[in-house]
Amino acid sequence: MHRLYPNIIITGTPGCGKTSHAESLKDQLGEPYQHFNISDLAKERKCLEEYDENLDTWVVDEDKLLDSLEPDMEKGGIVVDWHCCEVFPERLIDLVVVLRTDNSILHQRLTKRGYKDNKIQENLDCEIMQVILQEARDSYIPEIVIELRSDSVEEMEENVERIAAWVENWRADHPN
Ligand code: ADP
Ligand code: MN
Repeated sequence: MHRLYPNIIITGTPGCGKTSHAESLKDQLGEPYQHFNISDLAKERKCLEEYDENLDTWVVDEDKLLDSLEPDMEKGGIVVDWHCCEVFPERLIDLVVVLRTDNSILHQRLTKRGYKDNKIQENLDCEIMQVILQEARDSYIPEIVIELRSDSVEEMEENVERIAAWVENWRADHPN
């Protein structure tokens, strides 16, 4: 089915600014765009499997999650906010934004968030190793994957402007 509005994934290591970007982008785009914070949504829609003690996080039942999200995503206009992107089939996704943050800045943000040392270290390693960027590149065609820096508020504002401009172009290229 043809979508009237694009679906965008905002991804990146925890603390990179996914939620801040997605919220701001949704506000800028207005109706009918929606911000889907997948961590919250997986809970709300009962798509959680079990608690992983080692990773200190809930494991999401990805098949169930996708089944639940598919009808929304087929309509379009979804700003997906999650640290995993490979779950979503290519046909449902129009743009993948991978946020990147300087390690010392990320360290400060995660400390402020009250993460345990081992969880902070895991996330810093994930950022250094470009794990999420690689996952995005492995899952989607290069043309739709963009990497944006998210170290400062100015960069965040620029990023949101840039994505909003991309959305306008997409809409112009996909009339009805
Ligand atoms: P994520 O959803 O990726 O975990 P958040 O959007 O919750 O990240 O951001 C984590 C913290 O870092 C928040 O306190 C947020 O205000 C701050 N932050 C995120 N991106 C930026 C940025 N580009 N510049 C300054 N602060 C930021
Ligand atoms: Mn978040």
